[in-house]
Amino acid sequence: MTISERIDGPPETVSARSLAARPRRLRATPALRDLVRETELNARDFIYPLFVCHGQGRSEIRSMPGVYQLSVQDAVREAEATAKAGVRATILFGIPAKKDPIGVENFAEDGIVQQAIRAIKTAVPEMVVVTDVCLCEYTDHGHCGILNDGPYRKGHLPEGYVLNDPTLDVLAKVALSHAEAGADIVAPSGMMDGMVAAIRESLDASGFENLPIMSYAVKYASAFYGPFREAAEGAPKSGDRKSHQMDPANVREALREADLDVQEGADMLMVKPALSYLDVVRTVKDRFPELPLVAYNVSGEYSMIKAASANGWLDEAKVTLEALTSIKRAGADLIITYHALEAAKWLK
Ligand SMILES: [Zn+2]
Repeated sequence: MTISERIDGPPETVSARSLAARPRRLRATPALRDLVRETELNARDFIYPLFVCHGQGRSEIRSMPGVYQLSVQDAVREAEATAKAGVRATILFGIPAKKDPIGVENFAEDGIVQQAIRAIKTAVPEMVVVTDVCLCEYTDHGHCGILNDGPYRKGHLPEGYVLNDPTLDVLAKVALSHAEAGADIVAPSGMMDGMVAAIRESLDASGFENLPIMSYAVKYASAFYGPFREAAEGAPKSGDRKSHQMDPANVREALREADLDVQEGADMLMVKPALSYLDVVRTVKDRFPELPLVAYNVSGEYSMIKAASANGWLDEAKVTLEALTSIKRAGADLIITYHALEAAKWLK
C-alpha cells in the first residue's frame, strides 16, 4: 500500500504495522508520563544565593532582575520566604563596608556575613546556611587571594600573581569565623591548592570537626560569571582568574581537582558553572558517586533566561524548570540557583 493510499483511505483500511517496541505507549497520557519520569525536581534540591550588604533596604542588581543586594534585615525576610517555599538552604555572599589588600572584614566577628549568619539562624533556625569562603568580594584589587605585591612579593613569580599558601591562611581564618558565627556549611570557592585541607585543619583545631565543607572543587574561569561580579562587587581591577580557575576546555583535570579535595576531606563537591558543563557534572558524579554533588547555575545562565523572557522570546518558568531538571539529570544532587525561590513556587 502506498503512503497516499494509507492516509487517504478510510481508517479501517489502515492496518497497524507490527512494531514490538513503541516508546510512545508510555507517553500517551499525563498519568503515564508522570509514572515513568526519571528525574523529579524538588524545592529541596535548591540552594538560594543571597548577597548581603551594610545599611538598610535592598537594591536590585541591574544585570540580574529579581536579585538584590540585601540588608541583614532584608536577607532575613528573604530567608523566611525561601523556607516557606520549601527551599532548605541558602548560600551567603557579603559586600563589605571597606575593601583592602587582604580583606579584613572577611574574618571580622561583626563582618557582614557573620551578622547575616547570626540573624538568619536566629529567625529561621531550620534553614541550612552555607557561606562562600573567598577573598574576591573583600579585596580592593578584586582577586581571590593575596597578590604577589608589596610585602608579599616573591621575585620568581609574576607581579600580581595570586599567592597560594599565604591565601590559605586567610581562607582558614574566614571559614573559622563563619563557623563561630553559626554557619552550617562552609564553601571555599577560590580554587587555591590545599584550601580544603587548610580549612579542615583550622576548623578541627577549634572544635568544629563536625562542620561540613562544600568545596567548589571544579570551578572554571568562565565568562558566565559576568553579572555576579556586579552583584558581589568582586570584579578583578585588572587581569583575570585563569591562574587558579580551570580552563573551560578541560574535563580530565576536573577529576584530579575533585580527587584532591576528597582526599583533603571535602564532604560535598561542586561543579561551577552548570549548564555549559553538564558533561563535567556527569563525569564527576560517576567518579565520586558517594559524595553529594552540587552544581552552580551561575549568574550568566540566570540572566540569559531573564533577558529572553523579558523580551517575550522564552517562557521563563518552562525554560527554567527544564534547565534545572537537566542539571539534576546530569548528576547534580543539589543546585545553587538564583531561580530557587521562583522555581520552588512554580513547582507547587
Ligand atoms: Zn574568589
